[in-house]
Amino acid sequence: MAQSSDAANVSSALNAGQKKRKVAVITGITGQDGSYLAEFLLAKGYEVHGILRRSSSFNTGRIEHLYQNPQTHTEGNMKLHYGDLTDSTCLVKIINQVKPTEIYNLGAQSHVKVSFDLAEYTANVDGMGTLRLLDAIKTCGLTNSVKFYQASTSELYGKVQEIPQKETTPFYPRSPYGAAKLYAYWIVVNFREAYNMFAVNGILFNHESPRRGSNFVTRKISRSVAKIHLGQLDSFSLGNLDSKRDWGHAQDYVEDYLQGDSTKAYQTLGWKPKVTFEELVKEMVNSDVELMKNNPNA
Ligand code: NDP
Repeated sequence: MAQSSDAANVSSALNAGQKKRKVAVITGITGQDGSYLAEFLLAKGYEVHGILRRSSSFNTGRIEHLYQNPQTHTEGNMKLHYGDLTDSTCLVKIINQVKPTEIYNLGAQSHVKVSFDLAEYTANVDGMGTLRLLDAIKTCGLTNSVKFYQASTSELYGKVQEIPQKETTPFYPRSPYGAAKLYAYWIVVNFREAYNMFAVNGILFNHESPRRGSNFVTRKISRSVAKIHLGQLDSFSLGNLDSKRDWGHAQDYVEDYLQGDSTKAYQTLGWKPKVTFEELVKEMVNSDVELMKNNPNA
């Protein structure tokens, strides 16, 4: 009797311990959002596991500072695992080993224009990759315990049906990237309904920062402005000047204009942006000025 009551105590202590575990897996940890998310979760006391693609060149620049901080790396709160969203075996292996309580699927071929050149690859990573990850959770028997977040996108609304777009706006992707992300969106809904999983899509509109990839238009602009400021460049040219996004000209309302209505996110989650557009521009240009000062060829 004493033994079974001890066992019950141990089991309830273990359960309590399990409930308190805060272990996150982040795909795309080396990307713009993944690096910010890793910082955010580490500060909240999470153990963070990132999936790192093998690369012949350096791809950990955005999380290098986390390595240099002994509180994150050396104390074991952050760990990187080689893996890829195109490889189911590694996803099963990592999830089985880590037993995460939360998974953030931010990994993607995230460039819309590039997706026209790499349509099949984009579908494989952004669409099938999401399915592989969800299937890995199922294979590891974690559908009841893990919380899954999918980085969905305003590109699902590619052909604009109404302005601004909100949760009820019909989807109409207009790129291989949007179509792949649409599959990912629905497979998340499907797993949520079929397996009663905590699986959600966050439909995010364009967001920029000094960590934005340098082949995105906002970085192209901030880098060029920084070079002009430093006397390293006279002028620069841009491609399509007609495309509009709500980071750009929020007051303008024209066709093909992706502008999000975040009313529901504010009412339900209390979410509202902290950084104004002007502050964002200032931060990006200042950061690029510093970068170019030290390395004009960056
Ligand atoms: P980035 O392009 O900066 O980062 C993408 C990340 O995915 C990188 O870490 C990249 O690794 C990784 N990745 C690429 N291919 C694979 C693969 N085959 N297997 C595993 N990882 C892979 O994107 P953001 O951080 O800007 O965006 C994060 C997510 O949010 C993406 O899914 C994006 O589509 C989505 N999104 C972004 C928006 C934005 O405005 N930023 C808007 C809406 C949605 P590596 O560093 O090695 O290249």
